[in-house]
Amino acid sequence: MTASPSAKTGKPKLAFRPLPVPQVDVHGFWGDRADAVATRTADILYERCVEARMLEQIDPDRPSPGIVIPFHSPSPDEADRQGAEFTGSTVTTQMFWDSDLGKTIETAAYSLYRRKNPELEKKIDAVIDMYGKLQQEDGYLSSWYQRIQPGKRWTNLRDCHELYCAGHLIEGAVAYYQATGKRKLLDIMCRYADHIASVLGPEPGKKKGYCGHEEIELALVKLARVTGEQKYMDLAKYFIDQRGQQPHYFDEEARARGADPKAYHFKTYEYSQSHIPVREQHKVVGHAVRAMYLYSGMADIATEYGDDTLRAALDLLWDDLTTKSLYVTGGLGPSAHNEGFTSDYDLPNESAYAETCAAVGLVFWASRMLGMGPNARYADMMERALYNGSISGLSLDGSLFFYENPLESRGKHNRWKWHRCPCCPPNIGRMVASIGSYIYSLADDALAVHLYGDSTARFDMSGVPVSLTQTSRYPWDGAVEITLEPQAPVEFTLHLRIPAWSANAQLKVNGEAIKLAEITSDGYAAIKRTWKKGDQVRLDLEMPIERLYANPQVRQDAGRVALSRGPLIYCVEASDNDSQPHRLTLPRTATIEAQHRPELLGGVVTLSTAALADVSDGWQDRLYRPEPPATAQTRLTAIPYFAWDNREPGEMLVWLRDG
Ligand SMILES: [Zn+2]
Repeated sequence: MTASPSAKTGKPKLAFRPLPVPQVDVHGFWGDRADAVATRTADILYERCVEARMLEQIDPDRPSPGIVIPFHSPSPDEADRQGAEFTGSTVTTQMFWDSDLGKTIETAAYSLYRRKNPELEKKIDAVIDMYGKLQQEDGYLSSWYQRIQPGKRWTNLRDCHELYCAGHLIEGAVAYYQATGKRKLLDIMCRYADHIASVLGPEPGKKKGYCGHEEIELALVKLARVTGEQKYMDLAKYFIDQRGQQPHYFDEEARARGADPKAYHFKTYEYSQSHIPVREQHKVVGHAVRAMYLYSGMADIATEYGDDTLRAALDLLWDDLTTKSLYVTGGLGPSAHNEGFTSDYDLPNESAYAETCAAVGLVFWASRMLGMGPNARYADMMERALYNGSISGLSLDGSLFFYENPLESRGKHNRWKWHRCPCCPPNIGRMVASIGSYIYSLADDALAVHLYGDSTARFDMSGVPVSLTQTSRYPWDGAVEITLEPQAPVEFTLHLRIPAWSANAQLKVNGEAIKLAEITSDGYAAIKRTWKKGDQVRLDLEMPIERLYANPQVRQDAGRVALSRGPLIYCVEASDNDSQPHRLTLPRTATIEAQHRPELLGGVVTLSTAALADVSDGWQDRLYRPEPPATAQTRLTAIPYFAWDNREPGEMLVWLRDG
């Protein structure tokens, strides 16, 4: 689809689009993760949705469950009490069930590319049939408002996730259409989107609303791209433009339903990033997942409309997040209270909320910033969030989940089978199942490689089919071999990311060394040439083990050090160490060794070094004493953070004592 020129900026810049999921085969590291999702997670998500009785809410052939259990986010203590056995069987209705089903459909759809699963496909078809039956004549579709709260639709956009649910069903519909060729859900959601556009919008007589929980914006962009319908793009742009305008829609809406706008539970519209218009927003605030989804939608619209006013705001927001409010794991949103941001440099470790969905949302946002052109400022952070704070949310076998992703644990924070608010499991499922589209993106005369790893991409360049194969042991090793096989010689620019963590990178094309400094800008090497069958590119990224220190403003990390190697952040877990992790000190002079351990945690590189451990000798039953504890020499072994809590429960620590 051709992007519309923006009135303010004229012709859109060159836009890069992610390669569609079926055009990328992943092997190696991401192949293992995607297999776990395709063989286990996708089925588990469906079964858990059934156990949570979601189908009873959406199926018009069954009596309405009719019991309303108000939603609240569980505190970490409550979450611990729910424990790993909670499956949701006590919950009967929720305003956001449609969103969880939408993401489950999306995970199943992307997984079908990897592994045929006729049983699951049949079950998803049946869910889609239920939605088909549920949809009203006028196109409206919400299991909550139709079955549980009839007569109240479009009365509380602020709190009730009405458009958020629509957005997730749209994303599910797009993915399912692309994966199976079946249009039923896509047609259903086009009718619903048309209905939404008839109710909400800038035209006289329409409500000037938008959703309290962003998501519909980025979903409508996907719908516009797959259908070629500009009206869906324009509706997405309307939601972005209207957000936070005065008179404030949420005030008017509250008064219209007889409520006092000031009685708003979260007190401030910062919670939903609707406190001011989006182009005036320079600080990341409020609910972290909502923020990431909004910025993702803004980035899509900035790309599609060549809108530099949006891009300017996004760059300020990006700076604010990455220099003041981001965990070293790429996790974000430290507080359970608002599921979001607090104040600058407030990054508690043990109580970190750092919801899986928020890190997944950062991957979404970063990948969309790359739509405006390759830039390692975004791609490096996408990689950080991807390999650490997001996939930590899924067990290695694909069956258990984290909602919160703390950077320190006493051993009692363990993976769950399910969650009362099950937003994270299908979010991490769909992201992993669609990982190929984050690795590569395509413009008219260029292909960008944002992430490295064993994979094959197929795409057309100027009408010539091209296959590109990466061979690499990444993220365990920084050597990457790329083979290009265009069906006929074709000229284009190959953009290769040079990660900031790699101080020394070397590039060869068909054996000939290329001076990286001469062809690199914004952290990407640009190789423009006429590519021929069998052309080889070799990129060697030095992958040093690094000690990372936090800005002294972060009080929780003072005197502490974290370890990284390449894209991976490491943690120390009880299973690998003789001493409890909190007793360990890592001397600044200690040499740290990387070791490939194929038998451990599905095959990882561990980091190990000499360390000091505080010992209990001589303390008897005293709690305090004037002398410091004695220390003993020991070894410290660290594993990649994403792989923690896949064995027996025990202490875990990312930020070690620096000695
Ligand atoms: Zn979540």
